[in-house]
Amino acid sequence: MQIIDGKATSLAIQDEIKEEVQRRVADGAKKPHLAAIIVGDNPASRAYVGHKIKACERVGFDSTLVELSENILEEQLLDEVQALNEDPAIDGFIVQLPLPDQIDAQRVLEAVLPSKDVDGFHPINAGNLSLGLPGFQPATPAGIIELLKRYSIETSGKHAVILGRSAIVGTPMTLLLSRNANPGNCTVTMCHSRTQNLDEITRSADILVAAIGRPHFVTPDMVKPGAVVIDVGINRIPDATKKSGTRLTGDVDAEGLSDVDGHITPVPGGVGPMTIAMLLKNTLDAAAQS
Ligand code: NDP
Repeated sequence: MQIIDGKATSLAIQDEIKEEVQRRVADGAKKPHLAAIIVGDNPASRAYVGHKIKACERVGFDSTLVELSENILEEQLLDEVQALNEDPAIDGFIVQLPLPDQIDAQRVLEAVLPSKDVDGFHPINAGNLSLGLPGFQPATPAGIIELLKRYSIETSGKHAVILGRSAIVGTPMTLLLSRNANPGNCTVTMCHSRTQNLDEITRSADILVAAIGRPHFVTPDMVKPGAVVIDVGINRIPDATKKSGTRLTGDVDAEGLSDVDGHITPVPGGVGPMTIAMLLKNTLDAAAQS
């Protein structure tokens, strides 16, 4: 398998964004400003938000981290969202998921002003995506599209199989790959936990996107030789050789696939860094529109 290097591609995009910021600031514009709300102490969420804030520094954005207690009430969180909606200094913001049980996450996401919704999770942005209208696209599927584009992978007329139908990955990925665009124009099959004969379907995929959250779910016998395999999964599994006792792995058995012809995104270093690059790109666009 040839590696699709998401980390290097993300850094290249970040360099492009940095240059654009410098150009705009030289022309008298203010720096783009991204805010992130994080609720509680979930270590994975903290790590993700930390990477996003660090990336802001790298490209010359201002950033604000709003840290809130695990016990916050829904109304208080909605007030924080409203404050960011109304703050003219903030171009875009995200509410890091998951949120604690006492909070209706959908209600919070719907409270974000669509013009500042750089995660692309608001129903207005999701609706625009499904209609092919301009709007913020969720960063993970947008990052996958960007990888396919930058690696000149032909998608037109190909069979894409998406494993997972979540609102943040599987569903928007299905929409983006089936659009009349380049990359796009795929014939897409979206699979989920009730799909029957899954192996048969995945074996017919020219492009296979795995976004289910199960370590090494996709085994070599499920992949057609020559396929492009996009591994979205981020799973933490035990590994006694690591100081932490764990390591990150994807939804695909990448080791088992190493001798198979085709392309694959590694975990880590594939889709994850692209998600950050596209969040920055959305924030740059939000700043340009404000
Ligand atoms: P969700 O849990 O929201 O969705 C998982 C999907 O997988 C569901 O649609 C589910 O089906 C489906 N599924 C579960 N088991 C099976 C199965 N045995 N066969 C077929 N389909 C199955 O996850 P997300 O979409 O949020 O995330 C998926 C993975 O991607 C996770 O590992 C997550 O950490 C990672 N991720 C990575 C990102 C990155 O930047 N790299 C960003 C976002 C997520 P059903 O709907 O029927 O339950």
